[in-house]
This record gives sequence, C-alpha cells and structure tokens, in this order.
Amino acid sequence: MSFQIAIDGPAGAGKSTIARKVSAELGFIYVDTGAMYRAMGLFFLDRKIDSRDLEKVKASLDDAVIELEIVDGVQHVILNGEDVSTRIRTEEAGMMASAVSAIGEVREKLVSMQQQIAASRSIVMDGRDIGTVVLPHAPLKIFLTAGVMVRAERRYKELLAKGQEPDLAAIAADIEKRDHQDMTRAVSPLKQAEDAILLDTSDMNIEEVTEAIIRLAKERL
Ligand code: C5P
Repeated sequence: MSFQIAIDGPAGAGKSTIARKVSAELGFIYVDTGAMYRAMGLFFLDRKIDSRDLEKVKASLDDAVIELEIVDGVQHVILNGEDVSTRIRTEEAGMMASAVSAIGEVREKLVSMQQQIAASRSIVMDGRDIGTVVLPHAPLKIFLTAGVMVRAERRYKELLAKGQEPDLAAIAADIEKRDHQDMTRAVSPLKQAEDAILLDTSDMNIEEVTEAIIRLAKERL
C-alpha cells in the first residue's frame, strides 16, 4: 500500500532538507515541487517573458517541458532536455517561481504532473499546497515553519557553504516578500491544511524534526 507525506511551509523552513531525510529513512521517493516551479520560472526568465504578461505566459506554457529524474536517489529537474537542477537555485529563479506560481494555468500543469507522480507510490512531497490541493487525502500532513530571521540565517549559511557571498538582510527581505506573495495569491495560497500538524522548527534541529515526522508516519503506517 502506498503512503503519502505532504510537507508544506514558507520559504527556508527546512522542508527539502527534512523531506529528503524522512524519505531516505522510510525508503520513500522524495519530490521537491518547488524545483518544478523554479524550472518554470527559469523558462520564462530565459525567454525574457514578463510574468505580468499573462497572454504570453499562457501562450508559451506548452513549450515548457519539465521532467523529474531520480538519479542515485537525488532528484534532477530537466527543462526542455537541459538538467537545470543547479541553475534553479538562485534567488532570481526563486522570485520568478513565486511570481509565475500565482498563475492558475501554471499551477494546473504542475499539479497534475505532481498528482501523477504521487499516484500509487509511497512519497514525501514538499511545497506550498501539497496538503491543501495536490494530495488532500495524504495520511500525514506537516506544516513546517520558523521565524523569518531563523529562516534567513539558514539560507545564508547554505549559500555561504556553496561558496557564494550572500547578504543576510537581502535574503530576509526576499523571504518576506516571497512569503507575502505566496500567502496572498488568489490561487492555492500557502496555508496550513486543517488536518496538518504544525511544527515550528525555530528551536529544533534537523534530527529532532526528522525524528518527530518519522514517529508520526510510523503511527499511521
Ligand atoms: O520551495 P521553493 O522555495 O523552492 O519554491 C519556490 C517558489 O515556488 C515558492 O516561493 C512558491 O511561490 C512556489 N511554489 C508553489 N507551490 C509549490 C511549491 C513551490 O507555489 N507546491
């Protein structure tokens, strides 16, 4: 029998790190849906299409072919044949993802892909609308959150470790802007599903959060 874990929450709450660990421990597939929105954002950035130009966005949507491949347990995102897994990890791609993810047609395309991927297999899926829209019947839903500055500092350290020269105040401002856009959009805004369990990770480390979710999963398996 397949089992789904839906993890939602704002930018930088640690969703992907936690989801990756939980899926590895349970032997489930992990799908990072944010990467799909980022690939879509990159598609429009590459084509220099303004996210506010709805006619152009909708007209070119069919030209964006997004595929997910799992290589050695790691998700790769392919955009029109190009592996964009690294290129999607910039603040620019994140902001563009947030802008285009507010467009209903973009969401419909990606949500139906996500539902197909999740059908009949055990999966941990993270994003903004997994528990509310993509997998409303998931037996375990988690809403992960943490204070803005905690999230900004985590992202800052991640970027430092990657050899970049991040600016903490700019990251915090981007996170706040993205949260605001994601929570106030008309279509599938970021919100906690009624039956989701809220985990505030401000004072928890990765192991504590992972263990808490695995415990909750095992109670339901
Ligand atoms: O999770 P990540 O920060 O990579 O997501 C990038 C953006 O994609 C988010 O800010 C959000 O606007 C959008 N997104 C979404 N629905 C999802 C996953 C991501 O709208 N399920």
